[in-house]
Amino acid sequence: MPVLLLAPGGCATVAAVHPVVASDLGAPSRTSTLEASLSQRGVVTFERIVFARWTAGRGAFIDRNDSRTAGVPKGMEEAVIYAYVIDHPRFGRYLIDSGVSQDLEPRLNPLMRRALHDLNIRIERTTAEWLQGGATPRAVFLTHLHFDHVGGLLDVPDDTSVYVGRGDVEERSWTYRLIGRPADIALDGKGPLHEWAFTPDPDGAFAGIIDVFGDGSVWALSLPGHSPGSTGYLINAVDGPKLVVGDAVSTRLGWEQAMPQPLPASARADAEASADRLRRFSAAHPQVEVFLGHQSRTDQTD
Ligand SMILES: [Zn+2]
Repeated sequence: MPVLLLAPGGCATVAAVHPVVASDLGAPSRTSTLEASLSQRGVVTFERIVFARWTAGRGAFIDRNDSRTAGVPKGMEEAVIYAYVIDHPRFGRYLIDSGVSQDLEPRLNPLMRRALHDLNIRIERTTAEWLQGGATPRAVFLTHLHFDHVGGLLDVPDDTSVYVGRGDVEERSWTYRLIGRPADIALDGKGPLHEWAFTPDPDGAFAGIIDVFGDGSVWALSLPGHSPGSTGYLINAVDGPKLVVGDAVSTRLGWEQAMPQPLPASARADAEASADRLRRFSAAHPQVEVFLGHQSRTDQTD
């Protein structure tokens, strides 16, 4: 999520934390096993879907208080809300992130609605519309719990399981105290969140790695920083490996120029470590197509 400029004041209602359970899916693994899987024949299909676009000043994406961003000119950035659909021949359809729902905005706190208005979000399709075109996913794998990644859950049937990285559900920033927590609204009516059971990667290349289906086709990567539980997904697709990084790196400025995100001081070191790990992995495996949180790579088209 970009930084939201908020007026001071407003009264806070802190909603109860949505219940969580440990994931019933996947087993901890390691980078060397994931790397070995890159040469296996992909069985999963992968598709990126554009749900909405918005426009915001660069200061929403890069930390203007960090001297490393001084050389980046002022200007606007175009951002996209994506979700990704994966179809596994044995295990079925899964959605990574959730798209957008028309039902989210009216339920938000007025301050949050005003902030969204400033972003000029243009919806291209809703998750409800997308669902009319095909099978309902068996589960949603989230990159994190920010509003622009969870909103479409309102359109997904309540009995759909939702998976997320550890720690996101407890995130309680001052911003959330002012604006309410959109994820709590998006998750209303859903069962407990399933938290990926990451353990430290014995190879040390990532904070943690999970083999989601046990066959090397889909992997969850722990990428803390942008949010405590930020999670990426590597998919060994039929047309080559894909790496969905979520907002661990959301823009080309972040990926190509390693520009730091505007984050609380306590999260910056983790965020930069996760982004560095992704760039190192990508450099070592150039055949892996990288999908940034809110922009296409320059070598891709929307
Ligand atoms: Zn975010």
